[in-house]
Amino acid sequence: MRVLMIAPPGAGKGTQGALIAAHFGIAHIATGELLRDHVARRTSLGLAVREYLDRGELVPDHVVLDMVREALVAAKAAGGGYVLDGIPRNMEQARAAYRIGRELGMTADVAMHLEADDAEVTRRLLARAALEHRSDDTAEVIGQRLTLYHQVTAPIIDWYRERGILVSVDAMRPKQQVGREILAALEAMRPRLDDETGQARHPVDLATLGEAFGAAEPHPASG
Ligand code: AMP
Repeated sequence: MRVLMIAPPGAGKGTQGALIAAHFGIAHIATGELLRDHVARRTSLGLAVREYLDRGELVPDHVVLDMVREALVAAKAAGGGYVLDGIPRNMEQARAAYRIGRELGMTADVAMHLEADDAEVTRRLLARAALEHRSDDTAEVIGQRLTLYHQVTAPIIDWYRERGILVSVDAMRPKQQVGREILAALEAMRPRLDDETGQARHPVDLATLGEAFGAAEPHPASG
């Protein structure tokens, strides 16, 4: 299972990405986490990117792409599955991620789009700020991150829709419900994805299914 997460900040891509990775036993490659770890350890990369993170701006593409290539090579050695969380953030990264995936024989099967509106994600990020003290969870920087999301990240969604790998989920609901729906959708797609003959793929829009899908039982391995 090879999944990309696309979502505005605060929609739950870290939480749901970790759930998918644990459920399928695959690597969780979260670019924001990797970058924050560099900042915390004060590596040369961390010192170089810190201001971008503090301001809610995107770090240069080559920095994240190098990190992600390395992580994908490790994921390939570990079995080939992955959840990419935090990349791609713009069209250049989307194309580059696809090229790297082609080179390694591991392009994404699913682009998982979490839909949530600005008011809801802002509310969640401000609540998280009180607990986690992330330097970019201030009202001003949240505004900047959302603006960037709408300007340069959201336009990629159509590209995945055209490729037939888009799955859209309504992420306005409680995270347990969203998680159940995501796992049920991925489990339902699994036989088709495992079929290496590559059947034609069709975009899936779960955003409108809401309650009915949320009632599905989680897979026993999901914890
Ligand atoms: P996140 O944890 O995904 O919200 O990312 C936190 C911050 O890390 C972002 O606001 C960016 O400054 C940086 N970042 C994470 N992923 C990327 C990426 N793919 N491209 C550029 N910057 C990124």
